[in-house]
Amino acid sequence: MANEEELGKMCIPISKLKKYATEWVIKVLVIRRGLIKEYKNEKGESVRWQLIFVDEEGTKIQTTLFNIDVQLWKNFFDQNKIYYIINGKISGTKPNFLSVHKDLEVAFNSNTEIIQCNTEFMYQQFSNGFISLDESEQFTTEIYFVKELNGEGRSRRREVIVTNERYDRKTLTLWGDLAEIEGELLESIENSKSVVAFSDVKSSTYQGDFVLSTTPVSSVLIYPTFEKAKDLTKWNDNMKASNLDISLMPSRLMQIAREVKITDIVDGSIVSLKFKAKITDINSNHDPWYHACKKCHRRVTVIKSTATCGYCKIEDIDYDERYRLKFDVSAEEQYISITLFDGARYFFGCDVKEYVGSTSEKKEESKYYRKLVLSKGKEFSILVKIDRKIAKEDRNSNLVAEEIHEVIKDDPTDEIDVDAPLIKLRRKRSKKNKDTIQCLIKGQSENNLVSFVIE
Ligand SMILES: [Zn+2]
Repeated sequence: MANEEELGKMCIPISKLKKYATEWVIKVLVIRRGLIKEYKNEKGESVRWQLIFVDEEGTKIQTTLFNIDVQLWKNFFDQNKIYYIINGKISGTKPNFLSVHKDLEVAFNSNTEIIQCNTEFMYQQFSNGFISLDESEQFTTEIYFVKELNGEGRSRRREVIVTNERYDRKTLTLWGDLAEIEGELLESIENSKSVVAFSDVKSSTYQGDFVLSTTPVSSVLIYPTFEKAKDLTKWNDNMKASNLDISLMPSRLMQIAREVKITDIVDGSIVSLKFKAKITDINSNHDPWYHACKKCHRRVTVIKSTATCGYCKIEDIDYDERYRLKFDVSAEEQYISITLFDGARYFFGCDVKEYVGSTSEKKEESKYYRKLVLSKGKEFSILVKIDRKIAKEDRNSNLVAEEIHEVIKDDPTDEIDVDAPLIKLRRKRSKKNKDTIQCLIKGQSENNLVSFVIE
């Protein structure tokens, strides 16, 4: 067998592979290792395993292994490892199945050999393919929140909330085995708010929001080390070093929402608006959270830690704490009530579990509870989404706020320049880091990189 140097010379890029060719060498990085799946057809029970590779030119190709081939190769092809694939069969893509390559797929045969590669992999061209989240189907990002796994079988899904350095928060839905394998991994690293790159995802608009979802040929690269991800990692590390929680920063929506007067909120017909108002009353009859059904988010009745959801008509259902914080606010002699669900985290600066934990014994000693009590009379900037279809009379009685940020008198949130939010935010919070941040911003805008963090 050829040694690694000889193999390196024999390698051809995926773009040069010809249909039906059987003798060739390619050097690939494993970017997706699917679940080994059992299935039944007329021939009986079989197993199937899908892998996705990328080469140094950034061209991707997939292979699907069956039965004995799965047994033969299942201990190979670790995620993020590099291999030489020597010989096999280049076939056309299967109709009715999505393929990562427009024409070709790799199939293994009895002459196939796999050798792990110990030389370097040139990521440059693969890395260049990752651009901005809004424009591209592959991007690097930081994940900041991973929701639980839902659904069954193929419709298993998991939502991940991601953000970039402009705090464009997006929901990315992982489907199928991506929800299981990568979803679980992402959940386990949720707190480290790491940079992640997504490849071959699709974007769409759902209820006016830009949303992303995976396809059967998507791949997720956790802690990517290639060039474009390095800048993001640097930005992310900087945020962490300054103790800035990216998940609590005013979102891009909050930054760009048109500011109107509170009276316009009542009359308004625009979708996302923010306004300033003082808190006049706190609905303190209840705790600002409740036990919510994991399926429908409605309040459940919990008796001896067994929950019943009246809406789902299920006994012993999964439940969780969920924020529900109600305020009366006023400005310009207009009074309205607002309710915050997940948005209450911007008010408290912590997630609901931490709030509940901090108030479980002596409520009055919780700094979060004190923040609530002391909020009366303070001014806040509040982001709301108005549904134009709802009649005006019904709108103001039950306004759900998405975000809330206290107005600091000498440096109000709404003056953040959208093009360079970081610089301004940094100036506000930590003057000494200004210079580093400015050069980071410059770097970011040049290559128009998007980063996400798991919130
Ligand atoms: Zn329910």
